Amino acid sequence: MKALVTCGAGFIGSHLCEALVAQGDQVFVLDDLSTGRFENIEHIKGLTCVIDSTLNQEIVRDLVREVEVVYHLAATVGVQLVVNEPIRTIVNNIRGTETVLEETCRYRRNLLITSTSEVYGKGMRKVFHEGDDAVIGPTTRTRWCYAASKAIDEFLALAYWYEKRHPVIIVRLFNTVGPRQTGRYGMVIPRFVSQALRNDPLTVYGDGKQTRCFAYVGDVVPALKGLMARPDLSGEVFNIGTTESVTMEDLARRVIERTGSASGISYVPYDQVYGPGYEDMRHRAPSLDKIKNAIGYQPQTSLNQILDAVIQDIRRRMSSVPQEPVC
Ligand code: UDP
Repeated sequence: MKALVTCGAGFIGSHLCEALVAQGDQVFVLDDLSTGRFENIEHIKGLTCVIDSTLNQEIVRDLVREVEVVYHLAATVGVQLVVNEPIRTIVNNIRGTETVLEETCRYRRNLLITSTSEVYGKGMRKVFHEGDDAVIGPTTRTRWCYAASKAIDEFLALAYWYEKRHPVIIVRLFNTVGPRQTGRYGMVIPRFVSQALRNDPLTVYGDGKQTRCFAYVGDVVPALKGLMARPDLSGEVFNIGTTESVTMEDLARRVIERTGSASGISYVPYDQVYGPGYEDMRHRAPSLDKIKNAIGYQPQTSLNQILDAVIQDIRRRMSSVPQEPVC
């Protein structure tokens, strides 16, 4: 099988490329290295890597023509980046996805698009099902541009399915973590682990009582491949994540304990980090019923196992390349 992975040098993309190459696929990567890093993929033998953007329609067309399936992972990610660079977020997410849809439809290539649990917005449910309402905040609050732009991506992809029967599947990734993820754009686990390994205070935002469920990238990648192998599921939206929930306060304590760090916890108001009026989701957990029924998905990795893998990875990165900006 020949596969194209957009953002293949990113955190999730690089793990996906590894898995595809391991099963004998010929893999092409399209990545502008804005958040992806070449070091994430340089060890993977036989990849063809094109450093360019999904906004470059000719490049997208050439690559799509070459392959049979396309995993479209490229998007602006990370709360910090979204808040700081809303134009880039909106344009990359919407125009990039539009380009990939146009070209994959032109050549009838199977397409999987990664969306996000952010599209549920600030809905008050504890567990989100694929058919639940999206409750997005006002346009005056920049953070919602990520959710809104990804929702438009979903609408457009589903429109391609309804109108043209273009085979596209959408997955909503809940918090996905593991080795190679950087904390530079906000992600809490690599940030906490880096802070703990430096014996700096762990910065818990707000009161620390908000909860998240962290899925291991090694569980998520097989689900992406499993869905791609099922074009009969085209036009469907699936949550991917895990249901083991933790408060950010408890997460910080666990990281301190598992690293053996001398760090304490510092509670930081949201305003100080993201500016005035920032709205965080209190709780976020996926219903996994739909993906379990479809492909038998069952996350295998506990939070403690995930933390140990991330701690080992960040320790190694800190000691092998001390100047590398892990966080
Ligand atoms: N968070 C935190 N300290 C940090 C970074 C994030 O307490 O240094 C919190 C953040 O406010 C959110 C949770 O951790 O409640 C998860 O944040 P992340 O950016 O990883 O993902 P999100 O769920 O916000 O997309």
